[in-house]
Amino acid sequence: MKKTKKQNKKTPVKTKVPKNQIRFPARLLRPVAMFLRENLNKINIRTKNISSEDPFVNTARIHDNASPDADAEEQFGHARVTAIKEELNKKSTQIKKALKFIKKGKYGTCEDCQKLINTDRLSVVPEATLCVSCEKKREK
Ligand SMILES: [Zn+2]
Repeated sequence: MKKTKKQNKKTPVKTKVPKNQIRFPARLLRPVAMFLRENLNKINIRTKNISSEDPFVNTARIHDNASPDADAEEQFGHARVTAIKEELNKKSTQIKKALKFIKKGKYGTCEDCQKLINTDRLSVVPEATLCVSCEKKREK
């Protein structure tokens, strides 16, 4: 922030944008980046909290009598926590990727076909780095 104040007004800094590359203006990207970072924080907190719900992590387990019922319950609880963790992990990775795209000035373009991602899609899935058709192709 201090740096921008010191900048000479006579020489405005122009970021060079290749003509074939359409970029979102910084004023539009800033709130997106903020939103993504906030989401990332929430995911990090959730990941920490969910770990404590994992019965396999619970040290009290050593003292239980390990009846088959309790064991099944633990298995289920562990599987559930693992599934949620995986989901959170995926989301976190995707958000980090989108933040990198913002830094590189590639945000809004599909990483596979390089076409612009539909803005409606970005407003629903702001961390998207693939267009709908490329994402479908990857899922196959
Ligand atoms: Zn695409």
